[in-house]
Amino acid sequence: MSEDSRNPMAVPVLVPMPAERPYSYLVPQGMLVVPGSIVRVPLGPREVAGIVWDTPTDVVDPKKLRPIAQVFDCPPIDEAARRFVDWVASYTLSPPGMVARMFLRAPAAFDPEPPLPGLRWSGAAPERMTAARERVLELARDGMAWTRSGLAHAAGTSLTVVDGLTSQGVFETVEIPPPPVVAAPDPAFSKPDLSFEQEAAAEVLRAKAGGGFSVTLVDGVTGSGKTEVYFEAIAAALAAGRQVLVLVPEIALTSAFLDRFHDRFGAKPGEWHSDLSPRMREKVWRQVAEGQVRVVAGARSALFLPFKNLGLVVIDEEHDPAYKQEDRVFYNARDMAVVRGHIGNFPVILASATPSVETQVNAQQGRYGRVVLSARFAEAALPDLAAIDMRKSPPQRGGFLSPVLLEEMKKTLGRGEQSLLFLNRRGYAPLTLCRVCGHRFQCRDCSSWLVEHRFRGQLVCHQCGHNEQRPEACPECGTLDHLVACGPGVERIAEEVESHFPDARTIVLSSDMLGGVKRLRLELDAIAQGEADIVIGTQLVAKGHNFPKMSLVGVVDADIGLANGDPRAAERTFQLLSQVTGRAGRSGLKSRGLIQTYQPAHPVMRALILGDAEAFYEREIAERERAHLPPFGRLASIIVSAATRPEAESHARALRRAAPASRDISVLGPAEAPLALIAGRHRFRLLVHGEKKVDLQGFLRALLAAAPRARGSLRVQVDIDPQSF
Ligand code: ADP
Ligand code: ZN
Repeated sequence: MSEDSRNPMAVPVLVPMPAERPYSYLVPQGMLVVPGSIVRVPLGPREVAGIVWDTPTDVVDPKKLRPIAQVFDCPPIDEAARRFVDWVASYTLSPPGMVARMFLRAPAAFDPEPPLPGLRWSGAAPERMTAARERVLELARDGMAWTRSGLAHAAGTSLTVVDGLTSQGVFETVEIPPPPVVAAPDPAFSKPDLSFEQEAAAEVLRAKAGGGFSVTLVDGVTGSGKTEVYFEAIAAALAAGRQVLVLVPEIALTSAFLDRFHDRFGAKPGEWHSDLSPRMREKVWRQVAEGQVRVVAGARSALFLPFKNLGLVVIDEEHDPAYKQEDRVFYNARDMAVVRGHIGNFPVILASATPSVETQVNAQQGRYGRVVLSARFAEAALPDLAAIDMRKSPPQRGGFLSPVLLEEMKKTLGRGEQSLLFLNRRGYAPLTLCRVCGHRFQCRDCSSWLVEHRFRGQLVCHQCGHNEQRPEACPECGTLDHLVACGPGVERIAEEVESHFPDARTIVLSSDMLGGVKRLRLELDAIAQGEADIVIGTQLVAKGHNFPKMSLVGVVDADIGLANGDPRAAERTFQLLSQVTGRAGRSGLKSRGLIQTYQPAHPVMRALILGDAEAFYEREIAERERAHLPPFGRLASIIVSAATRPEAESHARALRRAAPASRDISVLGPAEAPLALIAGRHRFRLLVHGEKKVDLQGFLRALLAAAPRARGSLRVQVDIDPQSF
């Protein structure tokens, strides 16, 4: 008897659970597994899909182990992806199983898609020829496989005719493989003529696309052709036989991106985002794993697709906050993409007109390469930007648009061009008050005001989604009809626009729009086609769109984002306003951006209006450096939440006391988290701040190990590199 048959082999399997290590399972006789195999295993009373791993498990008595139930007929998760899971888990302090879980998002795809039953001409002739038989054979004569009904339909005849031929042996039954979800992109399909500057940038990227790990920033003003240029890198990676991932924020909105990709490569990329049908998800997942889908355009979760041969990742609008996931595993997809490139030894491209401060510093210090596109493509000029000092030209009573902006909108309408009014506030009004007693409508479960949505007649909490009918009377003092809306949301601006321009075609775009992504895509197309005169929108309209007839952008309230005391507020405001004003004048129309502000001398407004990004970044970087804030220092936040305030607070204090002594790392807090109450959970926050070179994760692990366990309703979430601090 051999060793093996006496001691059946055990392997580690990472299951989608918050466990620190893989679990051991027995491999039944005759079953073949390798590291990366996707398997079905028993877990308590259930069965789950897991991944065979290659790092040690806790030692368990083999007699207690349970066997693997099934190995799926599916390509294994490769070594680079497995190391990526380990890395992300360790960096974000997440259980590896919860990271592995992100690779297992399309369970039905673990089994191969069954082939379709088909028919192929056997070469034989029918016993008797008829006109219908003649037509069928005409189609099948080239030897290609057909489905039974497809063939009958194409020949304009009945299934009986086809079946008759089959029974006479004229057709043999074959299997038709499942069709690809997208056609193969052709790197040479339609090469653009690049400008001199674009060509120089493309040349750098092409050279990198063939090589090992590198990170390159494509730093170019809005409309300079960054997309056009990184398409050349994609072409090079495709020509080298590699798969490509393009991450875009808000993929659901970027049908325009898919069309452009199609124009360049003659086929669409595979899509990956939360709005895909389950069926499509499965197909894409499977075909990415098999290498059939060559290019994926996706949201941040696409980073956890099981690519067979990934050779390039592009992160478009790399500064966008949408890349940060703050749920279960907290990660920034931009940073994790760089890690994936490093582990897989392939290049990464970051594109932005307003790079993040982190990326700017990495480029300045030479860790990342940089290519610059300094001008808009062709004749297009950047819009002329000016501040409207709201103290000097205030709006009419009850309004929010200054006469200067209204006048410019009127002229724009007169020329048959489009205006965009940008306000990053959904709904009608951000706050509702009672004029008699001063009562403010607040969410019962969150520390946030209820936002009035007038079209729906509701008051809505933007944190937890709670909504209620807007009452007639104040719930506090009972007075009727004295509730008043405070401040503007996009719906209220639309009302004001309609009162000034009753004949203009107006569209309000926000994530509240009924009809979901499909409807949004239609509306965006309509705007691009010139079917609207005035667009009023939240940040949904700021991102990446090309609206050829848009020549005026008005920022309704440029000061919103600056008020909240977050050290990243200036950066975010600068990025958002640059992006949104960058929607104007992209096709060569002379264009303007008007920015309504009460603080026109604020450095962010000045840099924006003077087009002096350099001054802005210089100042911002100097401030971060002085305060040892990222990227010059390390930061993590620990959020403790619980059903009651005292529970959350006392556990946060306990965590604080558990912090190991350190000269280079300090723990601040606990203090109430910026959102102190969300969905009925009270939240406290500790900030952990260290010098650049410290082992922040080591410190946090020690802290968590020394702290009392979180019991009952308590939950502790660690956020490395938090967005707001
Ligand atoms: P960015 O990504 O920098 O905002 P885009 O790549 O979207 O810029 O380019 C802006 C517009 O200019 C797009 O409509 C694009 O098709 C067009 N464009 C840019 N470069 C070229 C080129 N070399 N040839 C033809 N059109 C171009
Ligand atoms: Zn709420």
